[in-house]
Amino acid sequence: MPTSKIHALIHSKCPRCHVGNMFEGSVYGFSKQKTKDVCSVCNLTFEIEPGYFYAAMYVSYAMSVAEVVTFALATAVLTGSESPWTYMLVLFATIIIFAPFNFRYSRLVLLHFMTPKISYDPKWELIEENIKKER
Ligand SMILES: [Zn+2]
Repeated sequence: MPTSKIHALIHSKCPRCHVGNMFEGSVYGFSKQKTKDVCSVCNLTFEIEPGYFYAAMYVSYAMSVAEVVTFALATAVLTGSESPWTYMLVLFATIIIFAPFNFRYSRLVLLHFMTPKISYDPKWELIEENIKKER
Protein backbone atom coordinates (compact mmCIF):
# COMPACT_ATOMS: atom_id res chain seq x y z
CA MET A 1 0.00 0.00 0.00
CA PRO A 2 1.47 3.39 -0.96
CA THR A 3 2.41 5.72 1.89
CA SER A 4 0.56 9.02 1.86
CA LYS A 5 2.42 12.29 1.35
CA ILE A 6 1.37 13.57 4.79
CA HIS A 7 2.60 10.39 6.50
CA ALA A 8 5.92 10.63 4.65
CA LEU A 9 6.24 14.31 5.57
CA ILE A 10 5.53 13.77 9.28
CA HIS A 11 8.06 10.91 9.42
CA SER A 12 10.71 12.91 7.47
CA LYS A 13 10.82 10.53 4.53
CA CYS A 14 12.18 11.17 1.06
CA PRO A 15 9.70 12.99 -1.24
CA ARG A 16 10.29 10.60 -4.16
CA CYS A 17 10.24 7.13 -2.56
CA HIS A 18 8.54 7.82 0.82
CA VAL A 19 10.85 5.16 2.30
CA GLY A 20 14.35 6.60 2.86
CA ASN A 21 15.01 8.97 5.74
CA MET A 22 15.88 12.53 4.78
CA PHE A 23 17.67 13.40 8.03
CA GLU A 24 20.25 11.96 10.38
CA GLY A 25 19.47 12.39 14.08
CA SER A 26 16.11 13.27 15.61
CA VAL A 27 14.44 16.70 15.76
CA TYR A 28 15.03 17.08 19.50
CA GLY A 29 17.93 14.73 20.19
CA PHE A 30 21.39 15.27 21.60
CA SER A 31 22.99 14.37 18.28
CA LYS A 32 23.03 17.09 15.65
CA GLN A 33 20.39 16.73 12.95
CA LYS A 34 21.73 16.80 9.43
CA THR A 35 20.11 16.61 6.01
CA LYS A 36 21.46 13.61 4.11
CA ASP A 37 23.00 14.31 0.72
CA VAL A 38 21.22 11.51 -1.14
CA CYS A 39 18.34 9.16 -0.34
CA SER A 40 19.54 5.73 0.77
CA VAL A 41 16.69 4.02 -1.13
CA CYS A 42 16.10 5.86 -4.43
CA ASN A 43 19.37 7.82 -4.62
CA LEU A 44 17.60 11.19 -5.01
CA THR A 45 19.89 14.18 -4.34
CA PHE A 46 17.89 16.19 -1.82
CA GLU A 47 19.53 19.52 -2.59
CA ILE A 48 18.45 19.32 -6.24
CA GLU A 49 20.53 22.32 -7.26
CA PRO A 50 23.24 24.32 -5.41
CA GLY A 51 21.72 26.54 -2.73
CA TYR A 52 18.27 25.04 -3.16
CA PHE A 53 17.62 24.98 0.58
CA TYR A 54 17.86 28.79 0.72
CA ALA A 55 14.24 28.64 -0.50
CA ALA A 56 13.42 26.72 2.69
CA MET A 57 14.20 29.92 4.60
CA TYR A 58 10.98 31.44 3.22
CA VAL A 59 8.99 28.41 4.35
CA SER A 60 10.75 28.56 7.72
CA TYR A 61 9.93 32.26 7.99
CA ALA A 62 6.23 31.62 7.33
CA MET A 63 6.23 28.82 9.92
CA SER A 64 7.95 31.07 12.50
CA VAL A 65 5.43 33.87 11.94
CA ALA A 66 2.54 31.42 12.36
CA GLU A 67 4.05 30.04 15.59
CA VAL A 68 4.86 33.48 17.04
CA VAL A 69 1.37 34.86 16.26
CA THR A 70 -0.26 31.76 17.75
CA PHE A 71 1.79 31.96 20.96
CA ALA A 72 1.34 35.74 21.26
CA LEU A 73 -2.44 35.37 20.99
CA ALA A 74 -2.42 32.41 23.40
CA THR A 75 -0.38 34.46 25.90
CA ALA A 76 -2.77 37.40 25.56
CA VAL A 77 -5.84 35.22 26.03
CA LEU A 78 -4.45 33.05 28.84
CA THR A 79 -2.59 35.67 30.92
CA GLY A 80 -4.23 38.94 29.83
CA SER A 81 -0.81 40.50 30.41
CA GLU A 82 0.07 43.93 29.06
CA SER A 83 3.75 43.71 30.02
CA PRO A 84 6.02 43.60 26.95
CA TRP A 85 8.49 41.48 28.95
CA THR A 86 5.98 38.64 29.18
CA TYR A 87 5.65 38.61 25.39
CA MET A 88 9.40 39.00 24.86
CA LEU A 89 10.07 35.99 27.10
CA VAL A 90 7.33 33.78 25.63
CA LEU A 91 8.13 34.61 22.01
CA PHE A 92 11.89 34.29 22.46
CA ALA A 93 11.34 30.85 24.01
CA THR A 94 8.92 29.95 21.18
CA ILE A 95 11.50 30.84 18.51
CA ILE A 96 14.29 28.88 20.26
CA ILE A 97 12.14 25.83 20.96
CA PHE A 98 10.72 25.65 17.43
CA ALA A 99 14.03 26.27 15.61
CA PRO A 100 14.99 22.59 15.12
CA PHE A 101 11.40 21.76 14.13
CA ASN A 102 11.35 24.60 11.56
CA PHE A 103 14.74 23.58 10.18
CA ARG A 104 13.51 20.09 9.42
CA TYR A 105 9.93 20.71 8.34
CA SER A 106 10.66 23.76 6.17
CA ARG A 107 12.93 21.58 4.04
CA LEU A 108 10.38 18.77 4.02
CA VAL A 109 7.51 21.10 3.01
CA LEU A 110 9.70 22.62 0.30
CA LEU A 111 10.58 19.25 -1.23
CA HIS A 112 7.18 17.57 -0.77
CA PHE A 113 4.87 20.39 -1.85
CA MET A 114 6.80 23.15 -3.60
CA THR A 115 9.24 21.30 -5.88
CA PRO A 116 7.58 20.30 -9.17
CA LYS A 117 10.75 18.46 -10.28
CA ILE A 118 10.27 15.77 -7.61
CA SER A 119 7.19 13.57 -7.66
CA TYR A 120 6.29 10.43 -5.74
CA ASP A 121 7.14 7.17 -7.45
CA PRO A 122 5.52 4.10 -5.82
CA LYS A 123 7.92 1.65 -7.52
CA TRP A 124 10.57 2.31 -4.82
CA GLU A 125 8.21 1.21 -2.08
CA LEU A 126 7.41 -2.00 -3.97
CA ILE A 127 11.14 -2.68 -4.44
CA GLU A 128 11.76 -2.15 -0.69
CA GLU A 129 8.84 -4.45 0.22
CA ASN A 130 10.21 -7.19 -2.05
CA ILE A 131 13.69 -6.84 -0.54
CA LYS A 132 12.20 -7.20 2.97
CA LYS A 133 10.20 -10.30 1.89
CA GLU A 134 13.31 -11.97 0.52
CA ARG A 135 15.20 -11.55 3.81
ZN1 LIG B 1 14.10 8.29 -1.76
